[in-house]
Amino acid sequence: MKKPAIGWSKFTKGNGSDPKDWFSYKCGYCDNNVSGYVVAYAPKLKWLQCPTCGNGSVYDHDQKIVFPTSAFGPEINGLPDEVGLV
Ligand SMILES: [Zn+2]
Repeated sequence: MKKPAIGWSKFTKGNGSDPKDWFSYKCGYCDNNVSGYVVAYAPKLKWLQCPTCGNGSVYDHDQKIVFPTSAFGPEINGLPDEVGLV
């Protein structure tokens, strides 16, 4: 069995008792600003779980972006009126 390029030994799991086990971000699934639980750490990434909808996201330390990004923002202006009524 092949080992992944990054050794799993570099991954750390929090247990929720440390403030760094929580990360504030905007969830791309439910569009809420949440304090997500950090499921696991890697040198450049954090795996997050949304406490509101339970979906997972990934935070990229280099780009400082949470994936997936919110599907609802930024607000799109100039939509036809019919769309705004939905
Ligand atoms: Zn969510």
